[in-house]
Amino acid sequence: MVASSYSTVQLVQLRLLLVMGIVRHLHARLMMSHIQSYVTGYDSGALNSPQNPHYAIFFGKGVTITSPSGTSCQAFCGYHSTIAKGSGFVTYSVYPTGCETCGTFPSAIQSIISHEFAETITDAAVGLNQLGWYDSENGEIGDICAWQDSLTMAANENSYTVQKMWSNSQNACVAS
Ligand SMILES: [Zn+2]
Repeated sequence: MVASSYSTVQLVQLRLLLVMGIVRHLHARLMMSHIQSYVTGYDSGALNSPQNPHYAIFFGKGVTITSPSGTSCQAFCGYHSTIAKGSGFVTYSVYPTGCETCGTFPSAIQSIISHEFAETITDAAVGLNQLGWYDSENGEIGDICAWQDSLTMAANENSYTVQKMWSNSQNACVAS
């Protein structure tokens, strides 16, 4: 039973400040600390940085990113994390691109982005070890339903792949 093991709900209003340009340094190896100092530097320089900004960072093919869980394209296809900022925090998500192991473009990257965005809202401060919706066995609400896609979102005659997320009330992976 997943529902009972969630901690208190901690919803965070997510404001996507911008999607940064693709980092193009071919064959670069970037660690989490590099990415965090990049985000911190960008955030401190951004005009009118809103409360709880979110930075989504896409890396070009050939850039290898390492995180505590392992290497991009192998251990992860995307992740989200948190940096402390004053009494609040900055959230960011990281996406390697061109990974053959991460599925077909563009549906796979859409699925991965929806996964990370949803978890940034429900477990925003995970990078500071302040857990929101987190199940000790199954992880965050997207991890429980990883790769369960649903083509439900439509806008301007385009449709987008979104991943299903865990719903406590429906006791299932659902798309909404
Ligand atoms: Zn996840």
